[in-house]
Parts: sequence; structure tokens; C-alpha cells
Amino acid sequence: MEGKKEDIAVLVKLDKKGIDIDSVLCPNCTNVGESVDHCLVSCSNAALIWNKVLRWWNINCNSSSIDDLFALSPLGSNTQCKIIWEGITWITVYYIWKNRNAKVFGKKILSIDATLQEIQIRGFEWMKVRYNKVFFEWAHWVNDPMSMLNPEPP
Ligand SMILES: [Zn+2]
Repeated sequence: MEGKKEDIAVLVKLDKKGIDIDSVLCPNCTNVGESVDHCLVSCSNAALIWNKVLRWWNINCNSSSIDDLFALSPLGSNTQCKIIWEGITWITVYYIWKNRNAKVFGKKILSIDATLQEIQIRGFEWMKVRYNKVFFEWAHWVNDPMSMLNPEPP
């Protein structure tokens, strides 16, 4: 998990270099220093988006660490479920980051519901490519994603 956090940190640093190197405060709430976990998990917009995503997956998690979110295994040891959740985590991070940058540039930020919908659409498209031999139904995906994944035999 350590490697992943570093990747995101690099992304944050690289992006900052070109955009707002002078800014040390979070551009969204402007009262805390910006860290990876703050920016991607606990800042208000990010927290609301995670709340929606976790509720969509029916997961209980109060952690404010991005590593913890990546490490969740919603269906125990089910590998497919773990891979799909990891994909969803990356897509969620992407949209949170996109919203953050929209804020920095004074552009329109997607609403929380619209963001969730984007994550669901991108996730569905990605999953269909990744598992092109498996049939996934959109209605199941948006209503109860884990219902599509059969638990693996022990
Ligand atoms: Zn903030």
C-alpha cells in the first residue's frame, strides 16, 4: 500500500508545481495545510464523495486515510471484488482531484450526485473491459455492486 500513497503524493506534488506552488493551504477549505489524506479523503468535498461511494458499496468505514480505503476488501478474500474496489478507489480519487483542480481554477465543480454518477459510469466501462467475458448489468451495478460478484469457494 505504501507505494500507492507515494504515487498519489507525486501526482499532487507535480500538479502543484505547475499550478499553485505558493499555496500551502487547502484550496477548498483554506484553513488547513494540504496533505494527501486531507485532499483526497477528509476535505469536505472529498468526504462527501467517499460517503456516497461507500454507501453505494454498502461499506462501513470511517477512516480518513487513503491507504485504508485502498486496502478495503468489501467481500473478504474475493479477488475480483478486491480488484474492482481498487479500480473504483482510483476512479474516485481521480474525480476528487478533478474537483479540487476545478476549484483552484475557479471552474464549475460537479455536484456530489453527479460525481457519484460519473464514478459509476467510468467504473462500469472499465470493469466491462477488464472482465470482457463476464456479463454485468448496469442496474445491478448501481444498486448493489457486490450482488454481481459471487463469493469464491473457500
Ligand atoms: Zn480542505
